[in-house]
Amino acid sequence: MNKAESAALEQLLIARGWDESAYAETADLVVINTCSVRITAETRIYGRLGWYSALKKERNGEKITTHHKTNRSCKVPVKKLTVVVTGCMAERLKDSLQKDFPVVDYVVGTFKKQHFQDIIDALEQNREIINLEENSVYSFAPLSYEQGEFQSFVPIMHGCNNFCSYCIVPYVRGREISRSVDEILKEIDMLGKHSVKEITLLGQNVNSYKFEEVLQDNNVHTVDFPELLERIALHIRETKSSIGWVRFMSSHPKDVSDRLIDVIAKERVFCRHIHLPVQNGSTSVLKSMNRKYTREYYLELIKIIREKIPDVSLSTDILVGFPGETEEDFEQTVTLMQQVRYEAAYMYYYNPREGTAAYNMKNQIPLEEKKRRVGKIIDLQLAITKEQLEKRIGEKVLVLVEAESRDNSKELLGRTERDERVVFLGEKSLIGNFVHVSLDELNGNTFRGTLINDNVLT
Ligand code: SF4
Repeated sequence: MNKAESAALEQLLIARGWDESAYAETADLVVINTCSVRITAETRIYGRLGWYSALKKERNGEKITTHHKTNRSCKVPVKKLTVVVTGCMAERLKDSLQKDFPVVDYVVGTFKKQHFQDIIDALEQNREIINLEENSVYSFAPLSYEQGEFQSFVPIMHGCNNFCSYCIVPYVRGREISRSVDEILKEIDMLGKHSVKEITLLGQNVNSYKFEEVLQDNNVHTVDFPELLERIALHIRETKSSIGWVRFMSSHPKDVSDRLIDVIAKERVFCRHIHLPVQNGSTSVLKSMNRKYTREYYLELIKIIREKIPDVSLSTDILVGFPGETEEDFEQTVTLMQQVRYEAAYMYYYNPREGTAAYNMKNQIPLEEKKRRVGKIIDLQLAITKEQLEKRIGEKVLVLVEAESRDNSKELLGRTERDERVVFLGEKSLIGNFVHVSLDELNGNTFRGTLINDNVLT
């Protein structure tokens, strides 16, 4: 979400004649887009603000002759350094951030984002804005495209109503709001004009997307997530868009309907990869996490998904060491992983987050024990991932070429629709294109493959 929002800001600045600075030291404006999910993300920002404090002292009063190392300076050069902090941390610490870090000129929380235009106006006119009013209605940026990219995020909703007891997101991003279908399709059209090949529909919980459309007869029709996906698939087909793959994240298991699974199964534009965060395998832990589903419900859901989309790959998020998690609860997570056999998993141990319901829960698990538990499931998942990936060796797959391989400049790195990484020999000109590759062998979690066909139209 932060990447999408940073890209949208970049688009706004480009549209106004600004350029990306090659170095922070020479920038006129620095926007720090922050995350509050983990304390470590916030700690990094404090360090960064300390660095900018020193830079600002050095810059203030000095005559800066080169604004941009690119020599493509903005239309209205500004001499002083302006620092803006935005994102979840700006929302969470809105009252104290500027007091604690005077280097910060503007704190732009979730409901002040409409003021970016005003801030740029003020910078270009060499004046300051004293007060940024909050707007209770969140507005979506028209385009979250990162210049020159062939993959892009498309935010479809914002905020979360779920209040999982460990999570800060609902407090810093506010309640769920869905973006209009028209705006989403318009952005998809713009991305097609930039020859984008893959989009990811974004939201804290995309499955609870609900947008009320007023029809011509003034009746209201509610578009839910399955209908949105159907309309996107139809639109991409009818407009002969360059977009070949559509992904989405994140999904809350409680909101995955049979209709949704049917739409994904039917429409080939949706990648055969579903990320379905389970968080824990114990129903009693899920209850204290306020996840609103049981282990049995989740396992049944996985069974239905695998029946209807047999070639799907599944990934998840797992959180162990939650307050009160017993050894038996932990073993339930282990057995759930053994049963589901995810292709990939993001695994964490619980870290208390001030302001959330779980922060004050009793029976916090000692750090050493949390580390032991997460270590055990990481080892288990490594073995399962290897076993799942090895089954694919010998297959011929469609790959979107993403970059030059880091280890060998003659090789390319691509990704399959099942979110698997493949390295193979090929020309750099293929980056950003779909190609066919055979999966020859496995090296860690990455396939080595052979290019078969380099001219694939989807
Ligand atoms: S669904 Fe739960 S974990 Fe996900 S953003 Fe909402 S509150 Fe946080």
